[in-house]
Amino acid sequence: MTEIKRPVGRRDWRTRLIQPEVGAPGGFVSLVPAVHRGSTVVFERLADAQDDWRTGRYTYGLYGTPTVLELGARIADLEGAHHSFVVPGGQAAIVLIYLAFCTAGSHALVPESAYGPNQELGPGLLEGLGITVETYPPTIGAGIADRIRPATRLIWCESPGSITMEVQDVPAIVAAAHARDVPVALDNTYAAGILFDAFAAGVDLSMQALTKYVGGHSDLLLGSVSVRDDAAYARVGPVHRLLGLAVSPDDCALALRGLETLAVRLAALERSTLAIATWLKARPEVGNVLHPGLPDCPGHAIWQRDFTGSASVFSFVFADEWDADRVARFVDALRLFRIGYSWGGTTSLVMAYPAPGSNARSYGARLVRLNVGLEATQDLIGDLEHALALAEGEQG
Ligand SMILES: *Cc1c(COP(=O)(O)O)cnc(C)c1O
Repeated sequence: MTEIKRPVGRRDWRTRLIQPEVGAPGGFVSLVPAVHRGSTVVFERLADAQDDWRTGRYTYGLYGTPTVLELGARIADLEGAHHSFVVPGGQAAIVLIYLAFCTAGSHALVPESAYGPNQELGPGLLEGLGITVETYPPTIGAGIADRIRPATRLIWCESPGSITMEVQDVPAIVAAAHARDVPVALDNTYAAGILFDAFAAGVDLSMQALTKYVGGHSDLLLGSVSVRDDAAYARVGPVHRLLGLAVSPDDCALALRGLETLAVRLAALERSTLAIATWLKARPEVGNVLHPGLPDCPGHAIWQRDFTGSASVFSFVFADEWDADRVARFVDALRLFRIGYSWGGTTSLVMAYPAPGSNARSYGARLVRLNVGLEATQDLIGDLEHALALAEGEQG
């Protein structure tokens, strides 16, 4: 093997591959947040290498790179939080909150309308750890006081609820909980952390699936846990660290980009969604339209009192004579509304919930959830009209 010629005193080229002696000029200033990838963080001196999560200093990529911490700081700023932890998804945010506040012997309360996988955590994981999770009717309001036990360590709210869209009286639940020193956590995904001011309503923890409106394009999974004060920060911080909830800086960079268009997307989605919900309400095939901005929705008056706007996801219930087969024909006949879970992206989506275990069970198999995207409203209404006609026609 011939040696590559190099000037005397220069390090071997194989070393320079790893530890380069040249680089790009400094002074680059752009509008775009930098994507900092990195697991190891290097220190000037050994004494700098101390590893205390509370100092906020960089120690290891798992605990945050500048890209991840920038997203957290931006979310905390928008929500008026003391601090926001960025985690791999909304479900990870939910688990983090449970494990920060509940230990063996604890009791937690969660609304019957909560996001399905949140409700599955009780039987699927927490009961095995000695934590009792009890569901409560979402419209319970101040009546939550009767469900609080000496062992209650956490009360969940989610407003509006997933699928069935009940708007909760969060301030009333917070008042009853705080009278007994019980913290309240809110799943504020519907509001994008914006349309409902969680901390003004008194909650201790507000989480969202950044996957939905902050990401906004169905191309990432991220979540956030925002804490009200230093007491909640001190509970969540160590557990966040121990769970090893690493997130990708690339995903965080996409979420930071999503933030730039959040206001215009939410405004356009609200307009189009209200137009479609109102159109459906006038159709003879449709019974209730469960959109928080319309009077059919349980808690509509609370929504008017507490929210500054509505979002893109809502449900409607077909008239009594509709059965699961006819609902499936309707869903299958849609062309622009794509069949899929999740929401908050640019594409319109539809899902039906015929499963008896779903919180939509009280509506039989007649409930359909829509996520309105950024397609032209008239085309989406045309798609619904066409599918209604096909579902009827094939009925014979
Ligand atoms: C989607 C969603 C979650 C879970 O978020 P992921 O990022 O998919 O894990 C939690 N809560 C609500 C209300 C959601 O809609």
